[in-house]
Amino acid sequence: MELSKKNLNERLHQIYDVIIVGGGAGGLSAGIYLQRFRLSSLIIDKGKARSFWMQELHNYLGLPPNTPGKVLLQQGKEHYASVDGDFLNAYVEEVIDEGETFAVKVKIGRVNSISAVFRSRYLIAASGIIDNLPPLAEMRNVYDYAGYNLHVCMVCDGYEMTDKKCGFFAGSEASIEEMVFNLSWFTPYITVFTHGSFAVSPNMRQKLQEHGYPLVETQIQQFLGHNHQMTGVELVDGSVIELETGLISMGSHYHNTYLQGINLELKGNNLVTDRMCRTSHPRIFAIGDLKVGLNQVVVAASDGALAATQIWRDIRHSRGARRWEEHLTVNV
Ligand SMILES: Cc1cc2nc3c(=O)[nH]c(=O)nc-3n(C[C@H](O)[C@H](O)[C@H](O)COP(=O)(O)OP(=O)(O)OC[C@H]3O[C@@H](n4cnc5c(N)ncnc54)[C@H](O)[C@@H]3O)c2cc1C
Repeated sequence: MELSKKNLNERLHQIYDVIIVGGGAGGLSAGIYLQRFRLSSLIIDKGKARSFWMQELHNYLGLPPNTPGKVLLQQGKEHYASVDGDFLNAYVEEVIDEGETFAVKVKIGRVNSISAVFRSRYLIAASGIIDNLPPLAEMRNVYDYAGYNLHVCMVCDGYEMTDKKCGFFAGSEASIEEMVFNLSWFTPYITVFTHGSFAVSPNMRQKLQEHGYPLVETQIQQFLGHNHQMTGVELVDGSVIELETGLISMGSHYHNTYLQGINLELKGNNLVTDRMCRTSHPRIFAIGDLKVGLNQVVVAASDGALAATQIWRDIRHSRGARRWEEHLTVNV
């Protein structure tokens, strides 16, 4: 059932088996598995998933290689609804561990918002991350190209950049070190942009020079192009650098503030899990981009299957096998 301000009272007294925070690729996959295990689940999603910004999914088995993330999400949501999953468009503010249950505090609606508390035995954190983009005065200009030929993920879109003139938009020297020389696997025609936001060490300058990668430290005025195809960059001094593609590597924002009251093991900002996606808390699972691993749709969907299956095993073991009542002998 799709929950809203109008009908949420119907569910406030229920204890769900699982509440899933995040309705992207991972959360929807987990929800579908849970419902098919005949467990009760609620997905709470604030919208605009990372999958939503993905304009074309080129590397997912069985889908046409230009499938937009929006289509994947819409079909996933319909699939989840078809197996009777509950879905609420809301923001999870806090999760409190009550012992046997979790209290999940949500804010519903941007205007005239209301608060509510839902409860579950298990929690799946599927709230993902979001990429930091070049902070230009006019962000609309960045959104025009980000996710099209201005990419954020080399594993996803390195292939699309093959032998093209590529702008690498770095957030730190560490991101240059980590990414640029690997990006050269796909294209050696790399220009590195710092947007004037950090200093580059003499060693790195020399390394870039040795590889023939120009370094541009002047601030960016705007991206140039049309019809969502970026064709270059205009700098604040008016000069123009022509490009055919780009890769942004400026770090990410992690959607995990609602878990701050619970002491979970982290590696950097990612949640540490076992191979079934269980975190250091026995009843909290983490899937997709939020956990340590590869940030890919196929991984998030697979994590959803693992977490849901482990939760089913836990609950199944705790409840024991059902009996075929009419074959039981009655002891008088
Ligand atoms: C531009 C772009 C292109 C990409 N291209 C590819 C590609 O070609 N192939 C590929 O495999 N991967 C690609 N990716 C990566 C892919 O999108 C992610 O790996 C995948 O979406 C991760 O799924 P997820 O379920 O972990 O997170 P998400 O899809 O980000 O879903 C998380 C959801 O949780 C919600 N949420 C967060 N916090 C809260 C909260 N407090 N309360 C309620 N809801 C919350 C978010 O709004 C979001 O809807 C791309 C990513 C981007 C940005």
